Amino acid sequence: MTEFKRFYEKFQPSHYDVYLDINRETKRFNGQTTITGEAKAQEIAIHQNGLVVASVQADGNDVPFTTDNDTDAIQIDLPKTGETTIAITYTAKLTDSMMGIYPSYYEVGGVKKQIIGTQFETNFARQAFPCVDEPEAKATFALSIKFDEQPGETIISNMPEVRTEDGVHYFDTTVRMSTYLVAFAFGDLQSKQTTTKSGVKVGVFATKAHKANELDFPLDIAKRSIEFYEDFYQTPYPLPHSWQLALPDFSAGAMENWGLVTYREAYLVLDPDNTALETKQLVATVIAHELAHQWFGDLVTMKWWDDLWLNESFANMMEYVAIDALEPDWHIWEMFQTSEAPSALQRDAIDGVQSVHVQVENPAEIDSLFDGAIVYAKGSRMLVMVRALLGDDALRAGLKKYFATHKYGNATGADLWAALGTASDLDIGAIMNSWLEQPGYPVVTAAVVDGKLTLSQKQFFSGKGKEVGRQWQIPLNSNYDVAPTIMSERSITLGDYAKLRKANGKPFRLNVGNDSHFIVKYDRELLKDILDNVKSLDSISQLQVLQDLRLLAEGRQISYAEVVPLLKDFADSTSNVVNAALYVVANNLKKFVTPSSDEEAQLQTLYNQLSKAQVARLGWTPKAGESNDDQLTRPYVLSAALYAKNADAIAAAHKIFTANADKLETLPADTRVFILRNEVKNFGSTALFDKLFAAHHQTADGNYKEDICSALTSTPDADLIARLIEKFEDTDTIKPQDLRAWFRGVLANEKGQQAAWDWIRNDWQWLEDTVGGDMEFTTYITVIAGIFRTPERLAEFKAFFEPKLNTPGLTREITMDTKVIEGRVDLIEAQKASVNEAVAKVIK
Ligand SMILES: [Zn+2]
Repeated sequence: MTEFKRFYEKFQPSHYDVYLDINRETKRFNGQTTITGEAKAQEIAIHQNGLVVASVQADGNDVPFTTDNDTDAIQIDLPKTGETTIAITYTAKLTDSMMGIYPSYYEVGGVKKQIIGTQFETNFARQAFPCVDEPEAKATFALSIKFDEQPGETIISNMPEVRTEDGVHYFDTTVRMSTYLVAFAFGDLQSKQTTTKSGVKVGVFATKAHKANELDFPLDIAKRSIEFYEDFYQTPYPLPHSWQLALPDFSAGAMENWGLVTYREAYLVLDPDNTALETKQLVATVIAHELAHQWFGDLVTMKWWDDLWLNESFANMMEYVAIDALEPDWHIWEMFQTSEAPSALQRDAIDGVQSVHVQVENPAEIDSLFDGAIVYAKGSRMLVMVRALLGDDALRAGLKKYFATHKYGNATGADLWAALGTASDLDIGAIMNSWLEQPGYPVVTAAVVDGKLTLSQKQFFSGKGKEVGRQWQIPLNSNYDVAPTIMSERSITLGDYAKLRKANGKPFRLNVGNDSHFIVKYDRELLKDILDNVKSLDSISQLQVLQDLRLLAEGRQISYAEVVPLLKDFADSTSNVVNAALYVVANNLKKFVTPSSDEEAQLQTLYNQLSKAQVARLGWTPKAGESNDDQLTRPYVLSAALYAKNADAIAAAHKIFTANADKLETLPADTRVFILRNEVKNFGSTALFDKLFAAHHQTADGNYKEDICSALTSTPDADLIARLIEKFEDTDTIKPQDLRAWFRGVLANEKGQQAAWDWIRNDWQWLEDTVGGDMEFTTYITVIAGIFRTPERLAEFKAFFEPKLNTPGLTREITMDTKVIEGRVDLIEAQKASVNEAVAKVIK
């Protein structure tokens, strides 16, 4: 058992001079790093990973050192403690792992090219230069970089370049910052730039495979986001520039490197003339998320990775706050309700889930902390609760204080609560600790007992769960004044129900706005009252009714069969959030039917009944000037109509395809994926398959690429599935960053599942070698657990993954995902018959 020590305890760097000489041709680089700092002991350690160290000097003299790959260390013996300057020379390889310094590959006009970029979060700066690679070890950095430079190439970094000498680019010294936020990139780039009101230069950079106007939308959002945050935080943007760079190969979605934010291409550049509103909203929130980090995360950084939530939960809330201010017509909080809320409620209901704040020491475990549903989605819901309790004025005053106190330094959750606490009279820390330190969330049961309205809380589990008596401080947000602001007790009585109902004149409800992280189980009387009045509820409340009933069904507190008859009541809604919630429930019914069975035919009939009028209303072609709700609703109903095998819908999509066969890329981005998928599924051929693959290779439009992936992976043709799987390991055709989506597509395809499952088991080693160093690696397991639903697949899943349980970084995911599949298998076993009976009844 290795004991993990923080290197910062023994050596505290204050400044780095980093010189790199990078050669793309040989895929190697040479480096020389000089670190000035305070040695607290004579035996110190500096991080490295994959560096071949040639020499180590302390204050100009050679000193003894050893490299230890188990602990990522260079162990150094210093002659003395105190202020010391350490110089290390080394060489290393460029790898294709999308971590450290790595190449991105792309083509322009048939010519293969590459740009070099970096990804240092969480602990990959040590692959580029020796450093104390811990967030607390903040220092200033002066970068100088030489590379196999071609005429016209651009190099950018956190800070502006100050001079070039003998082919070496010298960058201005940074402010005090963490190693994981250092970044640079070079290659044949195009850019567009502007300046904020306060004089910050803002730029968007991308390869020349993109049209110049694809940079316009992100430039506008980035500029206005920075202006918004400077005002909201009442703290100036701390650097001279803010560059946004799209990298053709990128593991995560985006990375908040200070002053040089990097993005997956599909999350930054977009065609302003043909991009779905939903995609624009997503890209805007990604940009706003990364720019929120420039203060929260970059200016003030978590002290250690256990407080990762401080960075991510906060940025995940602020992306919505910012975009809501920038584009009020988008009602972006609706997207929060249809994406973050369900994702958090789903994952956080599994017994064994991590808490938002979680202890971690082993570097191999750090990447597995980035559980999107918990650290991002649940965490942001926690902060939305805080914002609702405090109000924006107190929140902003608290944040201003937080930045002023901790800027260029580090902080913990307690520091944030202290700053917010002084700005209000609530003990925010005490309330929030019950949510941050405990995994899971409560279901509040509201019931009329002996005429009295009573509330009680208990942890909610979907699947098996062990009750251990957890209790939360729950912001109730009731529509009856008699309910307290916070419920801390296990149960409370609110008073005589008949009197309360009469005095309030409306059904009793909790969690109005769906901003608190709990669900409600109303007893029969209270639920009937709500459902009788459901049409008068706003769309978020209607979403919430469906959301809570679905979760209660998943948790087997009610049966799905009770939910099925309600669906038609919501089917004609013109609200996109209601349709989103409706189709989440409907899609969950698919697990109860065997493909191509009579039960599936019944479910398809239900889908047809739900979607028919909406398809007729909205049509296949977006209309000029239609509402945002209509634009966002159309994909749900078209998808439903195709699942329903609605003959008119299939014919309509085929007709559009045929008319546009030579210009598929120009099909409206809102509906293109359905038109392509329909064609591949119902009119597929090898010629179509080859044509779409060629288009995938050619286009630089990330959304079009995704549409093609979704279409091709839905093929029912066994030969084409075999050809698809052959391409999984051909990185020229399917980039490692995109492979998971292709794998998921084939695995979710009933006709392709066996082949995809065989592939991942047979070639696991290849996968691990190719993307194993990547922080997104474990999500391959999550993808599998999202799909499997039979006892046979569960047994195979266990047989394959249980022997890997002790692999650092995989343990948590394998344990969780086994429970996810077990819960689903049990649920299907218990409810299949009654659900299908209910479907048969409602379609009559
Ligand atoms: Zn983030």
